[in-house]
Amino acid sequence: MLDISKKRIVTTRKEHECFACLGSIGKGDSVISITAKQDEQHASFHLHLECNKLVAKQKIDLQHGCIIEMEIKAQQELETDGWIFRVGDVFSNPYQASHFKITKIELKAGDAPQDALIHGYRVHPKNHDQKVNDPDVFEENEHHRAWHFNDMWSPDSDK
Ligand SMILES: [Zn+2]
Repeated sequence: MLDISKKRIVTTRKEHECFACLGSIGKGDSVISITAKQDEQHASFHLHLECNKLVAKQKIDLQHGCIIEMEIKAQQELETDGWIFRVGDVFSNPYQASHFKITKIELKAGDAPQDALIHGYRVHPKNHDQKVNDPDVFEENEHHRAWHFNDMWSPDSDK
């Protein structure tokens, strides 16, 4: 458990590592400086402003590297600025012979919905219960970002 005793915005005088994302903090950057106690040990560290915001917004337990270890949430439905994606939905693309059936939707905490990973497999365009091997698909576990579907694919209406 991290017991935060002091939190303030500072301008750095040297380079640091961000406690949450382990990314680098440059000299002269405005960052959050934290003084805390962990297991009776005194600790002090720095956080990017945006990492500090993300930790608060997502209610993440502040720990070393907590942002890169953030859980990837699987969900049944995802609304983006384009399509709405649901597990079991089928999408088609005018340049692809087979259609794509969604099996899993994964969104990393802090990522925008359009960056979610949409997993699935190829199905016959006339029979969405029939899995097919499309020679144009090289990956065994095909997945794309939601924005790719928003750009290139459309939901198939005749299910
Ligand atoms: Zn950071």
